[in-house]
Amino acid sequence: MTAQIIDGKAFAANLRQELKHKIAKSGLQIGLTVILVGDDPASHVYVKNKDKAATEVGITANTIKLPATISQPELVQQIEQLNNDTTVHGILVQLPLPKHIDEDAIINAISPDKDCDGFHIANAGKNFVGQQAVVPCTPLGSLMLLKDRLGNLSGLNALVIGRSNIVGKPMANLLLNESCTVTIAHSRTKNLEQLCKQADIVVSAVGRPNMVKGGWLKPGCTVIDVGINRIEVDGKYKLTGDVDFESASKAAANITPVPGGVGPMTIACLLHNCYELAKNG
Ligand code: NDP
Repeated sequence: MTAQIIDGKAFAANLRQELKHKIAKSGLQIGLTVILVGDDPASHVYVKNKDKAATEVGITANTIKLPATISQPELVQQIEQLNNDTTVHGILVQLPLPKHIDEDAIINAISPDKDCDGFHIANAGKNFVGQQAVVPCTPLGSLMLLKDRLGNLSGLNALVIGRSNIVGKPMANLLLNESCTVTIAHSRTKNLEQLCKQADIVVSAVGRPNMVKGGWLKPGCTVIDVGINRIEVDGKYKLTGDVDFESASKAAANITPVPGGVGPMTIACLLHNCYELAKNG
């Protein structure tokens, strides 16, 4: 079998185009503010990409750059100002934050009504009990790709590898809401290979290059590779996922590439969340 590629880049481009039309038609003036603390080069690249994508769909993006030495109370104060600013509909604090700052406290300082990442405890709780809430961007984008390719997911065995609050747990919950039979694996899981063999859907969000081998997969399954890993090949850096793409694409029926799979969906879903927040605000 040769897997069909799930082209997240093309899907995300369509999503952004649709969003651009919806925003223009709505007449809404939507503001997204990104807070960037410190000098992490990867974070600067992510923020630049978010800014560009927002501007392209007609969202006014603003980045507030703060020094790594900022105190937690000062950062909370900055967020509170944005919570009270009626021109701002989405607030995003780029993670990771410097070690002296409690990330949970910062995420929960953002008004849940402006929490475009969907990480606030109120949104996480609502999602957990099946109430309307902002859904974290990466799981939302992954689910969109799955539904587009497979249609109804009801009754399928889904394995989510990774249990972080931003990817693994919300992903598992979304799949449960689609009536999948969901298994969550993590670093203490003893029989990952056997669990993979039973899964119709494998979503990997670990951060270990090429960990999932083609021989572990159920023939005909669908693989969503969330992992983004920077590895060195022949003296050059390249991005790779958690799944060994070459062997996996011989076993799976559908697979996302890295790059060009889930990554572009994450940004498109962030813009989607901003639009929804502005519409409902
Ligand atoms: P975390 O480090 O927060 O979580 C990683 C998870 O993987 C943990 O639950 C950990 O288990 C689990 N894990 C670690 N080793 C193993 C193993 N050997 N077997 C099974 N599970 C294991 O990462 P994130 O959730 O934030 O991100 C995961 C990956 O997704 C990263 O590569 C990240 O770069 C990428 N990512 C991609 C995005 C995109 O847009 N495409 C967006 C966000 C993240 P335990 O809990 O036991 O420690």
